[in-house]
Amino acid sequence: MIKLEAADLAARIKAEVKAEIERGVRAALAAVRVGDDPASAVYVKNKIRACEEVGIRSEHHALPESTTTDQLLELITSLNTRDDVDGILTQLPLPAHIDETAIIEAINPSKDVDGFHPVNAGKLAMGRPVFVPATPAGIIELLDDRGVEIRGANACVVGRSQIVGRPMAQLLLQRDATVTICHSRTRDLPAVTRTADLLVVAIGRAGFIGREHIKPGATVIDVGMNRVSDVDEVRRLFGDEAEKRLEVVAKRGSTLVGDVNPAEAAEVAGMLTPVPGGVGLLTVAMLMKNTLKAAKLRRQ
Ligand code: NDP
Repeated sequence: MIKLEAADLAARIKAEVKAEIERGVRAALAAVRVGDDPASAVYVKNKIRACEEVGIRSEHHALPESTTTDQLLELITSLNTRDDVDGILTQLPLPAHIDETAIIEAINPSKDVDGFHPVNAGKLAMGRPVFVPATPAGIIELLDDRGVEIRGANACVVGRSQIVGRPMAQLLLQRDATVTICHSRTRDLPAVTRTADLLVVAIGRAGFIGREHIKPGATVIDVGMNRVSDVDEVRRLFGDEAEKRLEVVAKRGSTLVGDVNPAEAAEVAGMLTPVPGGVGLLTVAMLMKNTLKAAKLRRQ
């Protein structure tokens, strides 16, 4: 089985963005985070670091947990009107008391580098994408880079979230795949996923997809990012590589695991994206690409 490592492609995407910035395109990203969720803090830090790497100016607006919807809307409005800000992202999930839909809908669609605004989701659904959510956009780049045929393939997307599953299905459809979308109410999930030449999994359950879900030779894209600390669970998921992962658990308290059981997938799949080292790297790189695009579209 081939591991679809993404570090090299992510570096190339960022290098292309950097080259355009160096040729004189000015771009700026405002990242907004509310509360103390440690995972969100890490994600935003990685995005800010990527901005620094490629030469995109960045602002980090870290607001306290007590921030109200109105206060956040006020910040979004001011970022919308500022000419020196090209892209706005609000790190999700927001605290439960904040109206997430209202916030997403308040972002000017032309600065919506996450592609979550209904205008951008609608354009994607109509086959006229402008800003596409970074994770599924990165997956398409990876498939193209590795020469995985999308046209005519039986593609199955497990998960129907606004940020991964739905836009992923739209992008695959646009590229002429025959697309099936599965979710928590799908009957006999393994029977459906086993028909897929191309299986994309974004459900948020550590190692849930096993050998019985995978067609022999299929390309499997694992979007999941889950933390696992249980020793037996690590052994079940990582087989021969478990010892290395257990060292990580001993050092950091947990290890990052996708939604696919890597040990079982290795027995059946043709290709599999690793976690970490796969889709996550592309998400950040594609956010840089979207921010550059926003700057160019607005300034032209
Ligand atoms: P959501 O929780 O928003 O959606 C999960 C989806 O999975 C839902 O549609 C749900 O179905 C479906 N689902 C849950 N359990 C099952 C099941 N047993 N069988 C079939 N379908 C199921 O998750 P996200 O899309 O936001 O994220 C998914 C995963 O991807 C998470 O681990 C997240 O951390 C990761 N992620 C990784 C990114 C990256 O850059 N690598 C970026 C974004 C997310 P239903 O709709 O019926 O409830």
